[in-house]
Amino acid sequence: MADNQFCGFEVFENRVKLEGALISKSGLHVGSGRALDPEASDLPVVKDFSGRPFIPGSSFKGVLRSNLESFLRSLKPKQGVKLVCNPIADGERCVSSEKKKDIFQKATRGEIADPEKEIWKQSCWLCHLFGSPWLASKVKIADMPINGNWRSQMLGVRQGVAIDRESETVGEGPYDFEVVPPETEFKMSIVVENPEPYELGLLMLGFQMFDQGFALLGGNTSRGLGRVEIKLEDILEITPQQILESLNPELEEGAPSEEEQPKITLPEHFQQLVACLKEAAQLNHNGLVASLQTRGWTKQKIREAGFKNFKDLFEKALKDGVIMEKNGFYFLKGKEEMPEEAPKKVDIEQKQRAWLSALARKLKEAVEEESNV
Ligand SMILES: [Zn+2]
Repeated sequence: MADNQFCGFEVFENRVKLEGALISKSGLHVGSGRALDPEASDLPVVKDFSGRPFIPGSSFKGVLRSNLESFLRSLKPKQGVKLVCNPIADGERCVSSEKKKDIFQKATRGEIADPEKEIWKQSCWLCHLFGSPWLASKVKIADMPINGNWRSQMLGVRQGVAIDRESETVGEGPYDFEVVPPETEFKMSIVVENPEPYELGLLMLGFQMFDQGFALLGGNTSRGLGRVEIKLEDILEITPQQILESLNPELEEGAPSEEEQPKITLPEHFQQLVACLKEAAQLNHNGLVASLQTRGWTKQKIREAGFKNFKDLFEKALKDGVIMEKNGFYFLKGKEEMPEEAPKKVDIEQKQRAWLSALARKLKEAVEEESNV
């Protein structure tokens, strides 16, 4: 484990972006967060400002985490290994408020050098990955909008009855609730900061739980709702090495030859910007600014060239079609559109397998023999 791993976001080691689709395989009711009121005649699904249903990233993340929790709870960890805790009850957390206070008190007395590192050490696998009151989550899941066409008539309405949780008898009702039909596709985008391979393995395992129907999304799952499938379509990995290479072109070996570069005519001002992007497949705003600065593009030079600032330069380059932007990363026009469906797919499957076997190895070290991993 890297020494600076505690930092999570503070030290950039690598970032993995998982893109794909979430497809409903049954009706889906992801509610708008309103309490289940037996008097209510209508339980809407959550919708965006234009009335299109979407899946809040937090809803998906909650189900993903709780299903991984139940899996890890079924294993018997070796002494000193913390796989999972109960993040909802403070006293049952791997690091409770009390324990956190204790760690910081020990630090004041000089018994512990680095209290934050100590909290990291005492936290469980899932708090490392999904966060806790003391740790930032490594996993960020964007809200998932519908991919493609949507008409409000596609939304179904079903009738339900409220079940009294205490007595498990039928309460007042019936009530209507909205349902997104099967085969509705939502766009999925997940960013994982500084993940260990086994942590990506945990996410892949979580995805499998959805695919196999163990993990169900939204409400009314007891009525057969909430089955979804995850289709991973792209894996983007960004490492400091890639950023370094883009800043020091002479370090880079095997740069693509001129013939492989897309042929485009460029306004003169954009040539350096394009040169930066040629050296790296993609750069985000800060990476591109840093790369341009090493080429002598000061703020003054930007203004002399007729731009207000870097942002203005990028916006004009985007408008002129010199570069493209996708999810916060800039691409050389043409590069992001290269047809590579088949090799990419193999690549995704290989990566998924590698992450899952990293998880299997890690679990083998972490649990007792009789857990039979
Ligand atoms: Zn925990």
